[in-house]
Parts: sequence; C-alpha cells; structure tokens
Amino acid sequence: MTQDSPSTPDSQASPTAGSPRFTTAITPEDFAHNLAAVRARLEAAAERAGRDTSEIRLLPVSKTVPEERLRAAVAAGITEMGENKVQEAKRKSENLADLPIHWALIGHLQTNKAKDVAAFAHEFQALDSLRVAEALDRRLQSLGRSLDVYVQVNSSGEASKFGLEPADVPAFLAALPAYSALRVRGLMTLAAHTDDAARVRDCFTTMRQLRDAGLQAGTVGDGQLSMGMSGDFELAIEGGSTCVRVGQAIFGARATPDSLYWPGSQQA
Ligand SMILES: *Cc1c(COP(=O)(O)O)cnc(C)c1O
Repeated sequence: MTQDSPSTPDSQASPTAGSPRFTTAITPEDFAHNLAAVRARLEAAAERAGRDTSEIRLLPVSKTVPEERLRAAVAAGITEMGENKVQEAKRKSENLADLPIHWALIGHLQTNKAKDVAAFAHEFQALDSLRVAEALDRRLQSLGRSLDVYVQVNSSGEASKFGLEPADVPAFLAALPAYSALRVRGLMTLAAHTDDAARVRDCFTTMRQLRDAGLQAGTVGDGQLSMGMSGDFELAIEGGSTCVRVGQAIFGARATPDSLYWPGSQQA
C-alpha cells in the first residue's frame, strides 16, 4: 500500500469521473491495448487496497459485440466471456465452438431458458429465484453436468435491478444445497448507477457483509464476490471484489442503452 502519488487516481473521485472514453477494439492489437489499460487500472486499485491481483478475476463482458470481433479478442488472449442474454450467448457459443471460450451467463434467466443454459454455459452469475435453481438443477442432472453459480443481490435498492433483497439472501443460500448440480461460488451485484461514490461503496459493503455471513454459515461456497464494471471496478476492488465484469473498457462503447439489460420488466 503506497501513499497516493500525483499520478495515482483519487480513490475518492466519483466512479465515472475521468473514466476514459471507451475505444472500440477491432483487431487483436486493439484488444491488447485496451486489456493492458484495464489491467493497469485493476493493479493500481488492488495496490491501493493492499490486495493481491491474483485474487481478482477479470471477466470480459462481450454482449452486443459481433462474433468476428470476439475472434480477435481470443487472438489477444481473452479466454472467458460474459454475456447477459441467453439467446445471444447460445448463438455465440455455437458459432465460436472451435475456440476454447469459457461462457459466463451474467444476466437474468427465465425458467423456460434453463435448458439452454444447462447445455452451454460454464457458469451462471445471476441466480435469484428457487424456481430457476430448481429448473437448472433438473436440466443439469439429466445432462450429468454441474454448474458454478453466483447469487445475484440487489444491493442498491433500485427498482430496475434484478436480484434478491439483501435481507432474503441468508435463507436463499441455506436452501441451495437441495440443488446438488449447482456449485455455489459466491454473490454477484450491480452497484447503484450513480456518480455518488459513497453510495456505490455502500453497495459493495453490503455485499461483503452478506458474503462474510455466508462464509460463517458455510452457505456461500468459497465466497467469491462478483462486482464492478467499466465505470466502478476500482471501487469494487477496494470493496473486496474477486471478479470484475468489464465490457466497454475492453470492447468499446455499446450503442445499446443499459436499460435493455437490467429493466424493471422482463425481456425476452
Ligand atoms: C454489461 C454488463 C456488465 C459490463 O458493463 P460495462 O459497462 O460494459 O463494463 C457487467 N455486468 C452485467 C450484468 C452486465 O450486463
């Protein structure tokens, strides 16, 4: 933990202030460049927090990015991709089946799509109902597979976010051992969407407390915390994140509005 130097970003700054414009990556060289910049930010945040970077996973989020560009990303060394929507993830996993990509589904799931997820996904980070747990478990059992899962928590209190209310998390975690094909790895959240760094930090603190309680109770697997995105991953690392999900800072700005991905109403 070094003291702030003039070149160190102010950790009190708002999560979006000063964030670079997101440069679209097309070639493997573009990806290497964006990845290096993200890793440098990640390392600086870890150092400020006195944490070892080896305990922080960088999960690139490839939603909306076309498959040709995902091939370039793989050529630059990316081996994991997070996708928010089942149909898009399934299509990409099929069309890129020749590449060794670990597919992480990070968006809300409806029970009628559990079959697809059980078939192609390597992990699911947005578990938020026992109905989905049951549907996934049944499909996985019949395929003889198991799946890493994270329980999604609505840590911000925003109505537009999916996930369990914090108060409901302990009982939910306690119910999951009934679904033996699900390997509980930890908790996932989207923090408040705001420039108010204190509010964002509160979300991460809530998550860490829930995780610590889950570790005490033995219900949260190895207690991973998936939190932090392009605009707030440094704060998330300072707040204890072990998996940051970064899309735009690696792939470039998205044209589609975020409301498409965490709406109040369900999307197809
Ligand atoms: C899109 C998305 C991200 C990444 O957001 P960026 O702003 O592109 O970094 C992280 N988590 C979830 C659940 C997402 O849908």
